[in-house]
Amino acid sequence: MTTQQGRHFLQIPGPSPVPERILRALSMQVIDHRGPEFGALGREVLAGCQTIFKTSGPVVIYPSSGTGAWEAAIVNTLSPGDKVLMVETGHFATLWRKMAGRWGLDVDFLAGDWRHGADPAAIEAKLAEDKPKSIKAVMVVHNETSTGVISRIAEIRKAIDKANHPALLMVDTISSLGSADYRHEEWGVDVTVSCSQKGLMLPPGLGFTAISDKALAASKTNKMPRSYWDWEEMLKPNANGFFPYTPATNLLYGLREAIKILLEEGLDTVFARHQHLAAATRAAVRAWGLEILCLEPAEYSPVLTAILMPQGHDADQFRALVLEKYNMSLGAGLTNLAGKVFRIGHLGECNELTLIGTLGGVEMGLAAAGVPHKAGGVLAAMQALGDLNTAVSQLAA
Ligand code: PLP
Repeated sequence: MTTQQGRHFLQIPGPSPVPERILRALSMQVIDHRGPEFGALGREVLAGCQTIFKTSGPVVIYPSSGTGAWEAAIVNTLSPGDKVLMVETGHFATLWRKMAGRWGLDVDFLAGDWRHGADPAAIEAKLAEDKPKSIKAVMVVHNETSTGVISRIAEIRKAIDKANHPALLMVDTISSLGSADYRHEEWGVDVTVSCSQKGLMLPPGLGFTAISDKALAASKTNKMPRSYWDWEEMLKPNANGFFPYTPATNLLYGLREAIKILLEEGLDTVFARHQHLAAATRAAVRAWGLEILCLEPAEYSPVLTAILMPQGHDADQFRALVLEKYNMSLGAGLTNLAGKVFRIGHLGECNELTLIGTLGGVEMGLAAAGVPHKAGGVLAAMQALGDLNTAVSQLAA
């Protein structure tokens, strides 16, 4: 029986469901993007972004997806032929590496197994070997959305400092910003790349780069051609809340609301909620007897969990069945992981009951698809969330 009633469960690791408050904000009338009302909106969202990225420096907002912001990071800071160090954490790091190659960068790509984050010690060793200090940037994906592995950016910063290396540090927070602890300034990141459709709970369509003084200085002398992505063109009108071209006004209304929602809950509470939901998800996976793709507990993603399918079972067939029977979208395995993993997104507006519904759909799907597993994952997740213990102790009282 196909049961498509009720709301769709969009449990991919982004785009994440858009909260009602943001949907309402998005639906307001467009205004003159050169008028005073827009200037106030622009100033408010640009300042709000500084709070979310945890920086006192500029944050540039592009009408783009995250990939555009990647490109902006490259073309504003580097020159053709520059050496950069990147780390193969998964599908998205590999795509960024490909883009860097297309821009004529000389990429040293530290090999990875797609089950670990970027290794600070390996980065330090590479930089220590670079006696002429010719590596211009270290480029790392914070939350590798294809694997559910998070890299330790503060430790990577320390590794760069220990090697006494001047390379810029560029970090992709496309799926971590607003969901996982992230501190652009404190962690000494030079360019933080992000986008709208994950932890910020907006529709796709905005890309961000947060920029350090050092990155801004690099942008004054680097040789990469650019026009639309040029920081200088943006930062001049941004000083008064305006943009050099017609901005995505309605997405900026949404962004203003998203920032309010995040700050009302409190960023630390938001991050703790994500950790809590991720831990409950892992409890369910273990109870099912399935394997979490991430091998390093210190690198478990608070944003999503990638789960390996048992041998002989196809993750895409399983996802198709879950969509058909339970009206829920789960994340696909990408490139190297196609058909081998499925990914549960637990980010953005997700709460305990959303998660339990999601895990219920997965558990029913495993049974319906004949995937070998043990029952009890949802129960384990409930116990992990503390609900069951609380309920039992209340009943006993
Ligand atoms: N980097 C990461 C970590 C991502 O998760 C994604 C998309 O999911 C991208 C880059 C590409 O972003 P976009 O699809 O918004 O261009």
